[in-house]
Amino acid sequence: MNVLVVGAGPTGLLLAAELTLAGVDVQIVDKATKRSGQSKALTLQPRSIEILHSRGLLNDVHAPQLPAGHFAGLPVPLDYTALDTRFPYQLGIPQRRVEQLLETGLDVRRGLELTGLQQDESGVDATFADGTTIRADWVVGCDGAHSAVRTLTGIDFPGRDGRFTAVVADVVISGVEPGWQLPALVPRDGAVMTLVPLDDGVHRALFTGPEQQHLPKEQPVTRDEVASALRSWYGDDVVLRELRHASRFTDAARQADRYRAGRVFLAGDAAHIHSPTGGQGMNLGLQDAFNLGWKLGAVVRRDADEQLLDSYHDERHPAGAAVLANTRAQGVLMVPDDDIACLRETFVDLLGVPEANRRLAGVISGVGLAYAPGAHPLIGRRMPDLTLTDGTTVAERLRAGRHVLLDEPDLPAARILVRPDGYVQWATDDPNAAPPPTFGHRMTSAASSR
Ligand SMILES: Cc1cc2nc3c(=O)[nH]c(=O)nc-3n(C[C@H](O)[C@H](O)[C@H](O)COP(=O)(O)OP(=O)(O)OC[C@H]3O[C@@H](n4cnc5c(N)ncnc54)[C@H](O)[C@@H]3O)c2cc1C
Repeated sequence: MNVLVVGAGPTGLLLAAELTLAGVDVQIVDKATKRSGQSKALTLQPRSIEILHSRGLLNDVHAPQLPAGHFAGLPVPLDYTALDTRFPYQLGIPQRRVEQLLETGLDVRRGLELTGLQQDESGVDATFADGTTIRADWVVGCDGAHSAVRTLTGIDFPGRDGRFTAVVADVVISGVEPGWQLPALVPRDGAVMTLVPLDDGVHRALFTGPEQQHLPKEQPVTRDEVASALRSWYGDDVVLRELRHASRFTDAARQADRYRAGRVFLAGDAAHIHSPTGGQGMNLGLQDAFNLGWKLGAVVRRDADEQLLDSYHDERHPAGAAVLANTRAQGVLMVPDDDIACLRETFVDLLGVPEANRRLAGVISGVGLAYAPGAHPLIGRRMPDLTLTDGTTVAERLRAGRHVLLDEPDLPAARILVRPDGYVQWATDDPNAAPPPTFGHRMTSAASSR
């Protein structure tokens, strides 16, 4: 087998789909015998929408469009309509549905918990709790925050523990009519509550207060705890009819120091954890998968040499570090403290400046990310989804998961070579210049905002 993907969350599923598209023999496994049905993430950010759209995965999806993001729950929305994208909004689509979409056509082997990993020069031996063994040329750990792949490979996960604990609960309630709204994340009397509709009459409550803030993450959430938090925020009319799922999360911030160790890679939460503020975690994992998939596919097909795989860490580690930094900054802005209230006011003021607002919207939406620049200003940037002379779009041309050479009038350069993940690999204003071989050079990179 070419590639073993450990973990069938959104990251592992998109990676397995990309590898399948690349013609690679891939097996995806998960320790859970079935999906939990719980959705941690509730929205897709614009860059993730672009990614799934470019593979035709969102064609039949109908979901609410939310034309704004937020930074630390401040009362000035991030204006996504100012972004250079076909999708200037978040899609209100729960993680559970994203996983369903991504799993279509994949054969996930469930009930396999990875317990051992040993690599040599030609491959990796994986062992599982039930005694199953699998040998693969490459292994990718998409096995979440407590990644066994990361631990078994000896990859460090430096950072800090959480400073607060909060509750996420899926509830059926009566007596309150919440709608899609900017989360009320700015603390009131040391407490925070957001309530948004999911589907089937279920709502997501996300809260913390003096009672929760220092509880261990593992402590079970009680029905009384949820009911009392809802009442203290919305009044005595609110009744908790059903508690579907409830768990605690923290704002711990850690990042793997290497995304690759020989024949083993990390992606998604296995590579980085941070507070969910701003709704970026699943999106970051999807973008990791989209970056690694085509590179690993090309190396397995022998279209590219192994050096290309180093560019995965070079490009995605800075992207992850940037998300850790902005979530930590948001965490500071949410601390209930008089001086920080002044800092919040300063940010509210700045967010009223269109350029500042657009900059942060680019960061949180993922649309602002660019990799290492090159000789032409387009290189390293995301290729806009333009409509081409034959009526097709760039995204449609990328559907096969291969490089695309664009050389027609009215483009921002005479010739543009677009990578399978939609970033510009090479561009020139000289219509007579010959494009470089698709996998001809090592791509180095750094993440930066437009
Ligand atoms: C309250 C909350 C709200 C959030 N909201 C958002 C949001 O709005 N937007 C957003 O983008 N992100 C959000 N996130 C973050 C998002 O949910 C995660 O970043 C996302 O789930 C990461 O996906 P993943 O596939 O990398 O890992 P996971 O979803 O954790 O999947 C890992 C998989 O690996 C499997 N696994 C684990 N160990 C093993 C093993 N040893 N062997 C085999 N399989 C194993 C697990 O069973 C699991 O299926 C939120 C998170 C929380 C906690």
